[in-house]
Amino acid sequence: MKIFNTLSGRKEEFVPLEPGKVKMYVCGPTVYNFIHIGNARPMIVFDTVRRYLEYKGYDVNFVSNFTDVDDKIIKKAIEEGVDSAVISERYIEECKKDMAAMNVRPATVHPKATQEIGGMLELIETLVEKGHGYKAEDGTVYFRTSSFQEYGKLSHKNLDDLQSGFRELKVTGEDGKEDPTDFVLWKPKKEGEPYWESPWCKGRPGWHIECSAMSRKYLGEQIDIHGGGEDLIFPHHENEIAQSEAASGKEFAKYWMHNGFLNIDNKKMSKSLGNFFTVREISEKFDLQVLRFFMLSAHYRSPLNFSEELMEASKNGLERIYNGLDKLRQLESKAAEEGLLDREKAQCQEARQLVAKFEAAMEDDFNTADGVSAVFELVKLGNSTTDGESSREYVAFLRTTVETLCGVLGIRTERKAEVLDQEVEAMIAARGQARKEKNFALADEIRQKLLDMGIVLEDTREGVKWKRA
Ligand code: AMP
Ligand code: ZN
Repeated sequence: MKIFNTLSGRKEEFVPLEPGKVKMYVCGPTVYNFIHIGNARPMIVFDTVRRYLEYKGYDVNFVSNFTDVDDKIIKKAIEEGVDSAVISERYIEECKKDMAAMNVRPATVHPKATQEIGGMLELIETLVEKGHGYKAEDGTVYFRTSSFQEYGKLSHKNLDDLQSGFRELKVTGEDGKEDPTDFVLWKPKKEGEPYWESPWCKGRPGWHIECSAMSRKYLGEQIDIHGGGEDLIFPHHENEIAQSEAASGKEFAKYWMHNGFLNIDNKKMSKSLGNFFTVREISEKFDLQVLRFFMLSAHYRSPLNFSEELMEASKNGLERIYNGLDKLRQLESKAAEEGLLDREKAQCQEARQLVAKFEAAMEDDFNTADGVSAVFELVKLGNSTTDGESSREYVAFLRTTVETLCGVLGIRTERKAEVLDQEVEAMIAARGQARKEKNFALADEIRQKLLDMGIVLEDTREGVKWKRA
Protein backbone atom coordinates (compact mmCIF):
# COMPACT_ATOMS: atom_id res chain seq x y z
CA MET A 1 0.00 0.00 0.00
CA LYS A 2 1.39 3.37 -1.01
CA ILE A 3 0.72 6.65 0.77
CA PHE A 4 1.82 10.09 -0.35
CA ASN A 5 3.82 11.47 2.56
CA THR A 6 3.97 15.28 2.75
CA LEU A 7 7.16 14.90 4.79
CA SER A 8 9.14 13.26 1.96
CA GLY A 9 7.06 14.73 -0.86
CA ARG A 10 6.52 11.33 -2.48
CA LYS A 11 4.51 8.14 -2.32
CA GLU A 12 5.95 5.63 0.14
CA GLU A 13 5.19 2.03 0.96
CA PHE A 14 3.05 1.90 4.09
CA VAL A 15 4.77 -0.04 6.88
CA PRO A 16 3.11 0.36 10.29
CA LEU A 17 5.22 0.83 13.40
CA GLU A 18 3.70 -2.31 14.87
CA PRO A 19 2.52 -5.10 12.55
CA GLY A 20 -1.26 -5.24 12.21
CA LYS A 21 -1.85 -1.98 14.05
CA VAL A 22 -2.33 1.61 12.90
CA LYS A 23 -2.24 4.67 15.12
CA MET A 24 -3.86 7.62 13.44
CA TYR A 25 -4.50 11.21 14.52
CA VAL A 26 -6.58 13.70 12.54
CA CYS A 27 -6.99 17.36 13.50
CA GLY A 28 -10.64 18.05 14.15
CA PRO A 29 -12.73 21.20 13.91
CA THR A 30 -12.84 24.29 16.07
CA VAL A 31 -16.38 24.20 17.41
CA TYR A 32 -17.94 27.65 17.23
CA ASN A 33 -20.49 27.04 14.49
CA PHE A 34 -22.00 24.29 12.36
CA ILE A 35 -19.27 22.59 10.35
CA HIS A 36 -19.02 23.64 6.71
CA ILE A 37 -18.56 21.33 3.76
CA GLY A 38 -14.82 22.12 3.69
CA ASN A 39 -14.49 20.73 7.23
CA ALA A 40 -16.43 17.69 6.04
CA ARG A 41 -13.75 16.81 3.49
CA PRO A 42 -11.03 15.65 5.93
CA MET A 43 -13.72 13.87 7.96
CA ILE A 44 -14.89 11.86 4.95
CA VAL A 45 -11.40 11.33 3.55
CA PHE A 46 -9.84 10.03 6.75
CA ASP A 47 -12.90 7.99 7.70
CA THR A 48 -12.48 6.24 4.34
CA VAL A 49 -8.75 5.71 4.96
CA ARG A 50 -9.63 4.19 8.32
CA ARG A 51 -12.31 1.95 6.80
CA TYR A 52 -9.94 0.70 4.11
CA LEU A 53 -7.21 -0.07 6.66
CA GLU A 54 -9.74 -2.00 8.72
CA TYR A 55 -10.92 -3.86 5.62
CA LYS A 56 -7.28 -4.90 5.14
CA GLY A 57 -7.31 -6.32 8.65
CA TYR A 58 -5.52 -3.58 10.58
CA ASP A 59 -6.58 -2.72 14.07
CA VAL A 60 -6.93 1.07 13.80
CA ASN A 61 -6.76 3.40 16.77
CA PHE A 62 -8.20 6.64 15.45
CA VAL A 63 -8.03 9.84 17.49
CA SER A 64 -9.56 13.14 16.42
CA ASN A 65 -9.88 16.20 18.64
CA PHE A 66 -12.39 18.98 19.10
CA THR A 67 -10.73 22.38 19.61
CA ASP A 68 -13.02 23.82 22.26
CA VAL A 69 -10.93 26.74 23.50
CA ASP A 70 -10.24 29.38 20.88
CA ASP A 71 -10.70 33.09 20.14
CA LYS A 72 -13.67 32.46 17.85
CA ILE A 73 -15.49 30.41 20.48
CA ILE A 74 -14.83 33.04 23.14
CA LYS A 75 -16.07 35.80 20.81
CA LYS A 76 -19.30 33.94 20.11
CA ALA A 77 -19.81 33.23 23.82
CA ILE A 78 -19.45 36.94 24.61
CA GLU A 79 -21.91 37.82 21.83
CA GLU A 80 -24.48 35.40 23.23
CA GLY A 81 -23.68 36.23 26.83
CA VAL A 82 -23.00 32.60 27.76
CA ASP A 83 -20.07 30.55 28.97
CA SER A 84 -17.77 29.42 26.13
CA ALA A 85 -18.44 25.78 27.13
CA VAL A 86 -22.09 26.32 26.16
CA ILE A 87 -21.00 27.25 22.64
CA SER A 88 -18.47 24.46 22.23
CA GLU A 89 -20.77 21.75 23.66
CA ARG A 90 -23.60 22.88 21.41
CA TYR A 91 -21.51 22.67 18.26
CA ILE A 92 -19.78 19.43 19.24
CA GLU A 93 -23.26 17.86 19.44
CA GLU A 94 -24.25 19.38 16.10
CA CYS A 95 -21.00 18.23 14.52
CA LYS A 96 -21.59 14.67 15.72
CA LYS A 97 -25.04 14.69 14.10
CA ASP A 98 -23.56 15.84 10.79
CA MET A 99 -20.86 13.19 11.03
CA ALA A 100 -23.46 10.47 11.60
CA ALA A 101 -25.50 11.66 8.63
CA MET A 102 -22.38 11.54 6.43
CA ASN A 103 -21.71 8.03 7.78
CA VAL A 104 -18.44 9.19 9.32
CA ARG A 105 -17.85 6.84 12.22
CA PRO A 106 -17.01 8.31 15.62
CA ALA A 107 -13.28 8.19 16.36
CA THR A 108 -11.95 5.71 18.92
CA VAL A 109 -11.50 8.81 21.10
CA HIS A 110 -12.64 12.41 20.53
CA PRO A 111 -10.63 14.36 23.12
CA LYS A 112 -11.53 17.96 23.86
CA ALA A 113 -8.79 20.51 24.47
CA THR A 114 -10.32 21.82 27.71
CA GLN A 115 -10.24 18.32 29.21
CA GLU A 116 -6.57 17.82 28.41
CA ILE A 117 -4.90 20.88 29.91
CA GLY A 118 -2.88 18.71 32.35
CA GLY A 119 -1.17 16.84 29.50
CA MET A 120 -0.42 20.12 27.74
CA LEU A 121 1.15 21.62 30.90
CA GLU A 122 3.33 18.54 31.32
CA LEU A 123 4.52 18.75 27.75
CA ILE A 124 5.27 22.47 27.99
CA GLU A 125 7.20 21.86 31.22
CA THR A 126 9.31 19.22 29.50
CA LEU A 127 10.01 21.62 26.63
CA VAL A 128 11.01 24.42 28.99
CA GLU A 129 13.25 22.07 30.99
CA LYS A 130 15.00 20.95 27.83
CA GLY A 131 15.55 24.52 26.63
CA HIS A 132 13.01 24.32 23.81
CA GLY A 133 10.61 26.67 25.52
CA TYR A 134 11.06 29.96 27.39
CA LYS A 135 8.94 32.36 29.32
CA ALA A 136 8.65 35.99 28.27
CA GLU A 137 8.16 38.82 30.73
CA ASP A 138 4.37 38.91 30.40
CA GLY A 139 4.12 35.19 31.23
CA THR A 140 3.75 33.93 27.64
CA VAL A 141 5.68 30.73 27.01
CA TYR A 142 7.14 30.41 23.51
CA PHE A 143 8.67 27.52 21.63
CA ARG A 144 12.25 28.31 20.61
CA THR A 145 12.32 27.26 16.95
CA SER A 146 16.08 27.73 16.66
CA SER A 147 16.50 24.92 19.22
CA PHE A 148 14.87 22.41 16.89
CA GLN A 149 17.20 21.80 13.99
CA GLU A 150 14.60 20.22 11.77
CA TYR A 151 12.09 23.05 11.98
CA GLY A 152 10.56 23.48 8.52
CA LYS A 153 11.02 19.85 7.41
CA LEU A 154 7.31 19.19 6.78
CA SER A 155 6.53 22.35 4.85
CA HIS A 156 9.95 22.22 3.20
CA LYS A 157 10.76 25.67 4.46
CA ASN A 158 14.15 26.86 5.52
CA LEU A 159 14.37 28.43 8.98
CA ASP A 160 16.61 31.28 7.78
CA ASP A 161 14.16 32.21 5.03
CA LEU A 162 11.29 31.94 7.45
CA GLN A 163 13.00 34.18 9.97
CA SER A 164 13.81 36.90 7.46
CA GLY A 165 10.29 36.65 5.98
CA PHE A 166 8.74 37.03 9.37
CA ARG A 167 10.99 39.87 10.39
CA GLU A 168 9.29 42.09 7.85
CA LEU A 169 5.96 41.40 9.47
CA LYS A 170 6.02 43.23 12.73
CA VAL A 171 3.81 41.27 15.07
CA THR A 172 2.42 43.48 17.75
CA GLY A 173 2.02 42.14 21.26
CA GLU A 174 4.70 39.54 20.71
CA ASP A 175 7.67 41.68 21.67
CA GLY A 176 8.81 39.08 24.16
CA LYS A 177 9.75 36.66 21.39
CA GLU A 178 13.43 35.87 20.87
CA ASP A 179 12.75 35.14 17.26
CA PRO A 180 9.85 35.92 14.92
CA THR A 181 9.28 32.24 14.09
CA ASP A 182 8.88 31.27 17.74
CA PHE A 183 5.31 30.34 18.54
CA VAL A 184 3.06 30.36 21.58
CA LEU A 185 2.81 27.35 23.89
CA TRP A 186 0.95 29.12 26.70
CA LYS A 187 -0.47 32.63 26.93
CA PRO A 188 -1.72 34.82 29.76
CA LYS A 189 -5.44 35.18 30.29
CA LYS A 190 -7.37 38.20 29.17
CA GLU A 191 -10.38 39.63 30.92
CA GLY A 192 -13.47 37.46 30.47
CA GLU A 193 -11.63 34.50 28.96
CA PRO A 194 -11.49 30.96 30.31
CA TYR A 195 -8.15 30.28 32.02
CA TRP A 196 -6.19 27.65 33.93
CA GLU A 197 -3.45 27.82 36.55
CA SER A 198 0.06 27.06 35.32
CA PRO A 199 3.66 27.42 36.59
CA TRP A 200 4.03 30.54 34.35
CA CYS A 201 0.80 32.48 34.60
CA LYS A 202 -2.94 32.05 34.70
CA GLY A 203 -3.79 31.50 31.08
CA ARG A 204 -4.63 29.16 28.27
CA PRO A 205 -2.74 27.00 25.78
CA GLY A 206 -1.62 28.02 22.31
CA TRP A 207 -3.43 26.11 19.57
CA HIS A 208 -0.67 23.74 18.45
CA ILE A 209 0.15 22.16 21.80
CA GLU A 210 -3.23 20.44 22.14
CA CYS A 211 -2.66 18.03 19.25
CA SER A 212 0.85 17.10 20.44
CA ALA A 213 -0.46 16.46 23.97
CA MET A 214 -3.58 14.50 22.98
CA SER A 215 -1.78 12.43 20.41
CA ARG A 216 0.86 11.53 23.02
CA LYS A 217 -1.73 10.66 25.64
CA TYR A 218 -3.99 8.48 23.49
CA LEU A 219 -1.55 7.04 20.96
CA GLY A 220 1.92 7.30 22.49
CA GLU A 221 5.02 9.23 21.40
CA GLN A 222 5.07 7.80 17.91
CA ILE A 223 2.18 7.35 15.53
CA ASP A 224 1.73 6.01 12.03
CA ILE A 225 -0.50 8.54 10.27
CA HIS A 226 -1.25 12.17 11.00
CA GLY A 227 -3.85 13.88 8.85
CA GLY A 228 -5.68 17.12 8.17
CA GLY A 229 -6.37 19.69 5.48
CA GLU A 230 -3.42 21.09 3.54
CA ASP A 231 -3.82 24.50 5.19
CA LEU A 232 -2.57 22.87 8.38
CA ILE A 233 0.86 21.91 7.01
CA PHE A 234 2.26 25.26 8.06
CA PRO A 235 2.36 26.38 10.77
CA HIS A 236 0.12 23.95 12.68
CA HIS A 237 1.66 20.61 11.77
CA GLU A 238 5.17 22.01 11.53
CA ASN A 239 4.75 23.22 15.10
CA GLU A 240 3.25 19.94 16.27
CA ILE A 241 6.35 18.15 14.95
CA ALA A 242 8.65 20.63 16.69
CA GLN A 243 6.86 20.24 20.05
CA SER A 244 6.48 16.45 19.96
CA GLU A 245 9.92 15.62 18.62
CA ALA A 246 11.78 18.16 20.77
CA ALA A 247 10.11 16.64 23.84
CA SER A 248 10.50 12.94 23.02
CA GLY A 249 13.59 12.88 20.82
CA LYS A 250 11.70 10.49 18.54
CA GLU A 251 10.01 10.82 15.17
CA PHE A 252 6.43 11.90 15.89
CA ALA A 253 4.44 10.68 12.87
CA LYS A 254 5.67 8.45 10.07
CA TYR A 255 3.19 9.46 7.36
CA TRP A 256 1.71 12.94 7.00
CA MET A 257 -1.42 13.02 4.85
CA HIS A 258 -3.16 16.21 3.73
CA ASN A 259 -6.38 16.63 1.83
CA GLY A 260 -6.75 19.30 -0.84
CA PHE A 261 -9.17 22.16 -0.44
CA LEU A 262 -12.83 22.20 -1.29
CA ASN A 263 -13.55 25.30 -3.38
CA ILE A 264 -16.70 27.02 -4.49
CA ASP A 265 -16.84 28.51 -7.99
CA ASN A 266 -13.14 27.66 -8.18
CA LYS A 267 -12.44 30.04 -5.35
CA LYS A 268 -11.25 29.18 -1.91
CA MET A 269 -14.24 28.56 0.31
CA SER A 270 -14.01 30.88 3.25
CA LYS A 271 -16.22 32.31 5.90
CA SER A 272 -14.81 35.79 5.43
CA LEU A 273 -15.72 35.77 1.71
CA GLY A 274 -19.16 34.49 2.65
CA ASN A 275 -18.98 31.73 0.00
CA PHE A 276 -19.45 28.68 2.15
CA PHE A 277 -22.18 26.18 2.90
CA THR A 278 -22.68 24.36 6.13
CA VAL A 279 -23.22 20.62 5.98
CA ARG A 280 -26.62 21.27 7.54
CA GLU A 281 -27.63 23.57 4.67
CA ILE A 282 -26.63 20.97 2.10
CA SER A 283 -28.64 18.34 3.98
CA GLU A 284 -31.80 20.29 3.21
CA LYS A 285 -31.30 19.65 -0.50
CA PHE A 286 -29.42 16.38 -0.65
CA ASP A 287 -29.07 13.17 1.30
CA LEU A 288 -25.60 13.56 2.85
CA GLN A 289 -24.61 10.25 1.29
CA VAL A 290 -24.54 12.26 -1.93
CA LEU A 291 -22.06 14.70 -0.36
CA ARG A 292 -19.88 11.79 0.70
CA PHE A 293 -20.07 10.20 -2.74
CA PHE A 294 -19.23 13.54 -4.34
CA MET A 295 -16.12 13.93 -2.15
CA LEU A 296 -14.95 10.43 -2.99
CA SER A 297 -15.31 11.03 -6.71
CA ALA A 298 -12.05 13.02 -6.63
CA HIS A 299 -8.61 12.13 -5.37
CA TYR A 300 -8.27 13.39 -1.81
CA ARG A 301 -5.16 15.46 -2.57
CA SER A 302 -6.73 17.31 -5.52
CA PRO A 303 -8.60 20.53 -5.07
CA LEU A 304 -12.32 19.86 -5.50
CA ASN A 305 -14.83 22.33 -6.79
CA PHE A 306 -18.29 22.21 -5.25
CA SER A 307 -21.35 22.95 -7.35
CA GLU A 308 -24.98 21.87 -7.44
CA GLU A 309 -24.51 20.37 -10.91
CA LEU A 310 -21.71 18.14 -9.65
CA MET A 311 -23.83 17.17 -6.67
CA GLU A 312 -26.68 16.25 -9.06
CA ALA A 313 -24.24 14.12 -11.05
CA SER A 314 -23.17 12.38 -7.82
CA LYS A 315 -26.79 11.86 -6.88
CA ASN A 316 -27.39 10.13 -10.22
CA GLY A 317 -24.27 8.02 -9.76
CA LEU A 318 -25.42 6.89 -6.35
CA GLU A 319 -28.85 6.15 -7.77
CA ARG A 320 -27.23 3.84 -10.34
CA ILE A 321 -25.68 1.85 -7.51
CA TYR A 322 -28.97 1.69 -5.61
CA ASN A 323 -30.86 0.60 -8.73
CA GLY A 324 -28.27 -2.08 -9.41
CA LEU A 325 -28.56 -3.35 -5.86
CA ASP A 326 -32.38 -3.29 -6.05
CA LYS A 327 -32.25 -5.44 -9.13
CA LEU A 328 -29.83 -7.94 -7.55
CA ARG A 329 -31.95 -8.15 -4.40
CA GLN A 330 -35.07 -8.84 -6.44
CA LEU A 331 -33.36 -11.49 -8.53
CA GLU A 332 -31.96 -13.08 -5.42
CA SER A 333 -35.37 -13.44 -3.84
CA LYS A 334 -36.73 -15.11 -6.98
CA ALA A 335 -33.74 -17.14 -8.17
CA ALA A 336 -33.74 -20.89 -7.75
CA GLU A 337 -31.56 -22.26 -4.98
CA GLU A 338 -28.77 -23.73 -7.05
CA GLY A 339 -25.01 -23.67 -7.32
CA LEU A 340 -23.04 -21.56 -9.78
CA LEU A 341 -23.79 -22.21 -13.43
CA ASP A 342 -20.78 -22.81 -15.64
CA ARG A 343 -20.93 -19.43 -17.36
CA GLU A 344 -21.21 -17.74 -13.98
CA LYS A 345 -17.88 -19.14 -12.86
CA ALA A 346 -16.17 -16.92 -15.44
CA GLN A 347 -18.32 -13.97 -14.37
CA CYS A 348 -17.33 -14.50 -10.73
CA GLN A 349 -13.76 -14.35 -11.88
CA GLU A 350 -14.52 -11.05 -13.60
CA ALA A 351 -16.07 -9.72 -10.39
CA ARG A 352 -13.01 -10.78 -8.40
CA GLN A 353 -10.82 -8.91 -10.84
CA LEU A 354 -12.90 -5.81 -10.26
CA VAL A 355 -12.41 -6.19 -6.53
CA ALA A 356 -8.67 -6.44 -7.19
CA LYS A 357 -8.95 -3.28 -9.29
CA PHE A 358 -10.73 -1.52 -6.43
CA GLU A 359 -8.03 -2.59 -3.98
CA ALA A 360 -5.23 -1.56 -6.33
CA ALA A 361 -6.80 1.90 -6.65
CA MET A 362 -7.17 2.28 -2.89
CA GLU A 363 -3.62 1.06 -2.32
CA ASP A 364 -2.30 3.69 -4.70
CA ASP A 365 -2.59 6.52 -2.18
CA PHE A 366 -6.34 5.99 -1.68
CA ASN A 367 -7.48 6.72 -5.19
CA THR A 368 -11.18 6.59 -4.36
CA ALA A 369 -12.11 7.98 -7.79
CA ASP A 370 -10.81 4.82 -9.46
CA GLY A 371 -12.24 2.75 -6.62
CA VAL A 372 -15.70 4.15 -7.39
CA SER A 373 -15.24 3.27 -11.10
CA ALA A 374 -14.58 -0.35 -10.13
CA VAL A 375 -17.83 -0.34 -8.12
CA PHE A 376 -19.70 1.00 -11.17
CA GLU A 377 -18.26 -1.79 -13.31
CA LEU A 378 -19.46 -4.33 -10.77
CA VAL A 379 -22.92 -2.78 -10.84
CA LYS A 380 -22.85 -3.03 -14.64
CA LEU A 381 -21.99 -6.71 -14.36
CA GLY A 382 -24.94 -7.07 -12.01
CA ASN A 383 -27.23 -5.29 -14.46
CA SER A 384 -26.32 -7.80 -17.15
CA THR A 385 -27.77 -10.69 -15.14
CA THR A 386 -31.18 -11.69 -16.35
CA ASP A 387 -34.23 -12.92 -14.63
CA GLY A 388 -34.60 -16.69 -14.48
CA GLU A 389 -31.14 -17.29 -15.90
CA SER A 390 -28.97 -16.74 -12.87
CA SER A 391 -28.30 -18.84 -9.83
CA ARG A 392 -29.00 -17.45 -6.39
CA GLU A 393 -25.39 -18.07 -5.45
CA TYR A 394 -24.11 -15.86 -8.25
CA VAL A 395 -26.55 -13.03 -7.62
CA ALA A 396 -25.85 -13.10 -3.88
CA PHE A 397 -22.12 -13.04 -4.56
CA LEU A 398 -22.45 -9.92 -6.71
CA ARG A 399 -24.73 -8.21 -4.21
CA THR A 400 -22.49 -8.83 -1.22
CA THR A 401 -19.43 -7.76 -3.22
CA VAL A 402 -21.01 -4.42 -4.15
CA GLU A 403 -22.21 -3.95 -0.56
CA THR A 404 -18.78 -4.71 0.88
CA LEU A 405 -16.99 -2.23 -1.36
CA CYS A 406 -19.61 0.45 -0.69
CA GLY A 407 -19.08 -0.24 3.01
CA VAL A 408 -15.35 0.38 2.61
CA LEU A 409 -16.15 3.73 1.03
CA GLY A 410 -18.67 4.41 3.79
CA ILE A 411 -21.55 4.56 1.32
CA ARG A 412 -24.76 3.21 2.79
CA THR A 413 -26.30 0.57 0.59
CA GLU A 414 -29.92 1.30 1.44
CA ARG A 415 -31.75 4.24 0.00
CA LYS A 416 -32.65 6.79 2.60
CA ALA A 417 -36.02 5.39 3.65
CA GLU A 418 -38.83 7.88 3.90
CA VAL A 419 -39.68 7.70 7.55
CA LEU A 420 -43.26 8.53 8.40
CA ASP A 421 -43.98 11.32 10.88
CA GLN A 422 -46.21 9.00 12.90
CA GLU A 423 -43.43 6.48 13.32
CA VAL A 424 -41.08 9.20 14.55
CA GLU A 425 -43.65 10.54 17.02
CA ALA A 426 -44.21 7.06 18.42
CA MET A 427 -40.50 6.56 18.94
CA ILE A 428 -40.14 9.96 20.60
CA ALA A 429 -42.98 9.07 22.97
CA ALA A 430 -41.26 5.77 23.81
CA ARG A 431 -38.03 7.67 24.50
CA GLY A 432 -39.89 10.10 26.77
CA GLN A 433 -41.37 7.19 28.70
CA ALA A 434 -37.93 5.54 29.03
CA ARG A 435 -36.50 8.77 30.40
CA LYS A 436 -39.33 9.10 32.87
CA GLU A 437 -38.50 5.60 34.08
CA LYS A 438 -34.83 6.65 34.27
CA ASN A 439 -33.96 4.01 31.69
CA PHE A 440 -31.42 6.29 30.02
CA ALA A 441 -29.71 3.48 28.15
CA LEU A 442 -32.98 2.71 26.33
CA ALA A 443 -33.65 6.40 25.77
CA ASP A 444 -30.20 6.83 24.20
CA GLU A 445 -30.72 3.73 22.10
CA ILE A 446 -33.96 5.16 20.70
CA ARG A 447 -32.28 8.49 20.01
CA GLN A 448 -29.49 6.72 18.15
CA LYS A 449 -31.98 4.62 16.19
CA LEU A 450 -33.75 7.79 15.12
CA LEU A 451 -30.43 9.33 14.16
CA ASP A 452 -29.67 6.28 12.02
CA MET A 453 -33.02 6.89 10.31
CA GLY A 454 -31.94 10.48 9.65
CA ILE A 455 -34.04 12.04 12.40
CA VAL A 456 -32.39 14.58 14.65
CA LEU A 457 -33.90 15.34 18.06
CA GLU A 458 -33.56 18.50 20.04
CA ASP A 459 -34.64 18.71 23.67
CA THR A 460 -36.07 22.15 24.28
CA ARG A 461 -37.98 23.75 27.12
CA GLU A 462 -41.17 23.34 25.13
CA GLY A 463 -40.49 19.63 24.67
CA VAL A 464 -38.79 17.50 22.06
CA LYS A 465 -38.45 18.91 18.59
CA TRP A 466 -37.32 16.86 15.64
CA LYS A 467 -36.26 17.29 12.07
CA ARG A 468 -34.90 15.28 9.19
CA ALA A 469 -31.10 15.44 8.89
P1 AMP B 1 -10.73 24.21 11.34
O1 AMP B 1 -12.01 24.10 12.10
O2 AMP B 1 -10.63 25.45 10.52
O3 AMP B 1 -9.52 23.98 12.22
O4 AMP B 1 -10.73 23.05 10.25
C1 AMP B 1 -10.93 21.69 10.55
C2 AMP B 1 -10.41 20.85 9.41
O5 AMP B 1 -11.07 21.20 8.18
C3 AMP B 1 -8.91 21.04 9.13
O6 AMP B 1 -8.34 19.77 8.82
C4 AMP B 1 -8.89 21.94 7.92
O7 AMP B 1 -7.73 21.78 7.17
C5 AMP B 1 -10.10 21.45 7.15
N1 AMP B 1 -10.65 22.43 6.20
C6 AMP B 1 -11.10 23.68 6.48
N2 AMP B 1 -11.57 24.28 5.36
C7 AMP B 1 -11.42 23.39 4.34
C8 AMP B 1 -11.73 23.41 2.93
N3 AMP B 1 -12.31 24.46 2.34
N4 AMP B 1 -11.43 22.30 2.21
C9 AMP B 1 -10.87 21.23 2.78
N5 AMP B 1 -10.55 21.13 4.10
C10 AMP B 1 -10.83 22.20 4.88
ZN1 ZN C 1 -3.87 19.55 15.10
